[in-house]
Parts: sequence; structure tokens; C-alpha cells
Amino acid sequence: DAEKTSYKRVMLKISGEALMGDTSFGLHPPTVQRVAREVQSVHEMGVEICMVIGGGNIFRGLQGSAQGMERTTADYMGMLATVMNALAMQSALEELGIHTRVISAITMNEVAEPYIRRRAVRHLEKKRVCIFAAGTGNPYFTTDTAATLRASEMNCEAIFKGTKVDGVYDKDPAKHDDAVRYDNVSYDEVLQKHLGVMDASAIALARDNDLPIIVFSLDEPGGFKGILAGEGTYTIVK
Ligand code: UDP
Repeated sequence: DAEKTSYKRVMLKISGEALMGDTSFGLHPPTVQRVAREVQSVHEMGVEICMVIGGGNIFRGLQGSAQGMERTTADYMGMLATVMNALAMQSALEELGIHTRVISAITMNEVAEPYIRRRAVRHLEKKRVCIFAAGTGNPYFTTDTAATLRASEMNCEAIFKGTKVDGVYDKDPAKHDDAVRYDNVSYDEVLQKHLGVMDASAIALARDNDLPIIVFSLDEPGGFKGILAGEGTYTIVK
């Protein structure tokens, strides 16, 4: 039944673009609120929730460096973008009465807590949603890697990667009518076939820590909760 799940602690990874709605840049508050309600329905099941939100709706390091900006500076700008998204999500969650902490990999004490592992674990135990912001704090990484790293550190049982599609396909389902969705796929197959799940460093880190990645559609209302209850369509990378 949809009210039950065997999961105790999970990581939800979404891209910054998932908060953009139909616009082409930045934050779309109704979309942020909709995602917050998806998180709320899982929180109500008693699941401890970690989140990592990307920054691609505001700034991507690679785009900045392609335009002549120094790469590490551009990456720091990307990390700062993730902090803005995290604050927007915190605001939407707290509006729903869910205690939330933004925990930043780059210290900015006025805005977010610094990352201290034991403190973050304590928040989770107290059923506070922890949004891990500023990626890993290092340039040349992505928020997919940050999500995998924090999920490993927090002992999450799985990473739930919310996307626009309901799983991993052998080719882009937006471009090919005959694209086939995998129910299960191994980390190595994702790496060998360059399946667009997460970047290679994130996949390798998940593999080395036996952390399953569940790819599902965040556009499906009630989808996140349904997947946790074992319903709906998705792909497990393991
Ligand atoms: N970023 C980084 N180190 C990290 C995480 C992110 O340098 O550990 C930067 C990088 O420039 C990246 C940007 O932050 O382009 C936004 O993150 P990402 O591209 O992962 O966001 P998403 O595509 O998930 O929205």
C-alpha cells in the first residue's frame, strides 16, 4: 500500500532545471512548491530525507568557462547557484511546516549551516530535511557527485534521481520513438554505454559504495512517494 515503505533514509537529487518550470532560467515558485509537496508526502511516511539540488537553472561552470571565464571561478559560481536553489526549497518546505536545514559545503554561516557530518545525521534523526548545498565544495565536480558523496556519508539506502523521464533509456526517448527503458541496469553498463544517468564520477562512486540509483520522473504527481512504496515505473542502477 502506498502509505508504506521499507526505506528509512534516502537522498533525493534533482537538477536545478527541475525548479525552472516552463521558463528558461531561474526559479519558478509554483514549481518549487510542487516539488516541496512531493517531498512532504514522503516525509509524512516517516522517511528521513536528504536533498541535493543542482544549479544549472542559474549557472553552470562549463558554460561560464566556455565564455572565457576561468574554470574554477565559474565552478564556484555554479556552487553558489545551488545555494540559492537550496534556500528556495527550504522556504517552500518550511511553508509546509517541515523543518529544514540548508547545509553548505562552502562556509557562509549567515546563510546556511556548515557541513558537519554528525550534526547532519542528528538533523535527519530528528526528521529534519537536510538540503546539502554548494555541491562538494570543489570545482570540477558536479552535484550528482555531491549527492552520491553525501548519500554515502549519511548512510542513505538509495539515491532517488528525479528527472523528466521515468527511467533510463537505451537512447534519448525525447528524440527516438523506439527508445527502450531499462528496469535494471548495472553501473558498468551505464558507464560503458554512456547512458545519461549521472556523470561518470558519480556512477563510479555509487558503484564503489553499493549505493543504488533509482531514476524516476519528478513530473508525475505523487511519483516520488509511489516509487518509495514500490509502485510506478523507474529504473534501478545497481
Ligand atoms: N559545481 C562544482 N562542484 C560541485 C558541484 C557543482 O563546481 O561539487 C558547479 C559546476 O560548475 C556545475 C554547477 O556547480 O556546473 C551546477 O551544478 P550541476 O551542473 O551539477 O547542476 P544541475 O545540472 O544538476 O542543475
